[in-house]
Amino acid sequence: MKYIATISGGKDSVTMCDLLLKNGYQIDELIFTDTFQEFGLMYEYLEKLKIYFKDRYGRDIIVLKPLATFEEWCFGVIKKESAKAFGSIRGIPNPAMNDTQCYHRRETKIKPLERYLKNKYGDDEIISYVGYTLSEGRSIKDHDNFKYVYPLKDYFKMTEEDCKAYLINQEMENPLYRYFSRTGCAICPFQSERSMFQIWKHFPETWKRMKVIEEILYKYEDMGFNVLNKFWFTGQRTCEDMEKFFEKTDKQGSIFDFSDMPFRDCFCKI
Ligand code: SF4
Repeated sequence: MKYIATISGGKDSVTMCDLLLKNGYQIDELIFTDTFQEFGLMYEYLEKLKIYFKDRYGRDIIVLKPLATFEEWCFGVIKKESAKAFGSIRGIPNPAMNDTQCYHRRETKIKPLERYLKNKYGDDEIISYVGYTLSEGRSIKDHDNFKYVYPLKDYFKMTEEDCKAYLINQEMENPLYRYFSRTGCAICPFQSERSMFQIWKHFPETWKRMKVIEEILYKYEDMGFNVLNKFWFTGQRTCEDMEKFFEKTDKQGSIFDFSDMPFRDCFCKI
């Protein structure tokens, strides 16, 4: 039986890993899945975490990489002949489609993790620690040789606020929390409008990239391709629409005018 903990750089997973190791729980693998879509601040924080876990517990954080980039998937054509959308361009993961998984999550988080564990441990039973807190009423279904456990909820009885306070106290908070209440891929289409506003205001390179992706998808459509989704925002709002909206609110209002509710379970915890 092997125990693995995925550390996303968010407050919950970092607190979970620290508490597990501090309290002597078994962790065979401490894993960060790099989506190639992290903010620069996240990569800096990851370096800090590597030093922290090495110095304190003698543990390395294994960094897994995906086989393809976001753009390769986004601009890719669906080749599975049995798929309803065969021949279409995949486009941006669609927040309005509640029944589908984000392909970026599947390709950059789930698959690299499963590949790595399969290569190393074959069919051994895997116990996967997940950083869900008392603030969340959800769980992941066990499957194949994977079982999921929730130490923050079940062992340490912690809420998201407790995790935040814990890391501030340890001086280990991720600097991204100066801008966002959750962390995840920089260009996640499932994040809240408030997060998008923060990207527009504080991370212009990321915003520019989102616009470029949108423009390329429009070009593909002009060339006659069917694009499954070319919008980062619900209601078919483009980046340009949102810029006008953000500019106006920036002059007149505050970031609290924007909802901070993500569209789905964005800002993945693994
Ligand atoms: S954070 Fe968003 S874009 Fe990234 S994998 Fe999760 S749902 Fe997909």
